[in-house]
Amino acid sequence: MTRKSDPNVNEPQHFRVSAEQPAAPAIALAARAIKAGGLVAFPTETVYGLGANARDEDAVDKIFRAKGRPATDPLIAHIADADQLNDLARDVPDLAHELARRFWPGALTLVLPKSAALPANLTAGLDTVAVRMPNHAVATALIEAAGVAIAAPSANRFSRPSPTTAQHVLDDLATEIDVLLDAGPTAIGLESTILDLTRDPPQLLRPGGLPLEALRQFIPDLRFAPRFLGDAEAAPAPGTLLKHYSPRAELLLFQGHDDAAVYATMRAQIAAGRRVGLMLNAADAAAFADLDVKVESLGDSAEQAALRLFAAMRALDGAGVDCILARSPEKRGLGLAVWDRLLRAAEGTLIEV
Ligand code: AMP
Ligand code: MG
Repeated sequence: MTRKSDPNVNEPQHFRVSAEQPAAPAIALAARAIKAGGLVAFPTETVYGLGANARDEDAVDKIFRAKGRPATDPLIAHIADADQLNDLARDVPDLAHELARRFWPGALTLVLPKSAALPANLTAGLDTVAVRMPNHAVATALIEAAGVAIAAPSANRFSRPSPTTAQHVLDDLATEIDVLLDAGPTAIGLESTILDLTRDPPQLLRPGGLPLEALRQFIPDLRFAPRFLGDAEAAPAPGTLLKHYSPRAELLLFQGHDDAAVYATMRAQIAAGRRVGLMLNAADAAAFADLDVKVESLGDSAEQAALRLFAAMRALDGAGVDCILARSPEKRGLGLAVWDRLLRAAEGTLIEV
């Protein structure tokens, strides 16, 4: 990807907007940029998205180029009204409508058979499309004003941690976007849960902001079988690459029930003389208070860990550490998605203690 030699030539128009009642002029300007085939970074309740008109093949192509994202990794189309689902997908099963009624707007993405009219690059050439209705007034206003579904992956350079603030977007993509709508930090901090309804039984492709347990009310046997852990039954989901959501520093993920043993194993890494950062919940972090290492606390709940995880990775990268030590959380509620992101950041390596 080429960047402009003079960064001032292509600075985005940056608008601070209310997360509840965004000002109409900023939304109108951003919607014009979408209709003109441009790129708009905007907040959702999960993370910031890098949006373009989902029906405009050239605009969608700009998303791939801006991110450095492989063309094999399909995008999610964002809608503001459940009726838009029928423009994007065909043969929509009753279960999709039931899930949409219960969980939309929200952090659930549904994979469905795609309608014929969509550009091939949106779906990476697949005959399925991923659709979500985000729960954020800015996203909704933008989609409504643009009058089209908006294709939007997370607004980060490919494989980097997803952006949970407008500053993260600028850090990765300042010269690539036309408009940035800044409504402050996102509420959930992790990407949506992706459910593939084209398979029987339905498959959870990515755990995310809507907990698996909530989906089990509708699909009792639903489970998460990450392909990268060698489960032969797992869905071959595009874009669920192992190395993803990663800090620049190496991340070591420790797993074990015995706190003292886990801490001792972590300390051995620190003693090995590397520039180490810690990314731990508050209780675990307290066990290292005697050491002179950079610590990013993930708080004391799965919700806080979800909110802080990507910002913590970026902060530790910014602090220049070579190695980040983290601990596997309980895989319940949002903890499952936190665990998934940590495991990918660690490139699949779990250190069992
Ligand atoms: P993100 O980069 O967070 O927007 O996530 C988009 C992800 O949605 C992709 O990386 C895929 O894992 C998933 N996805 C999108 N479209 C499809 C599809 N048609 N079939 C399966 N997974 C999809
Ligand atoms: Mg992403």
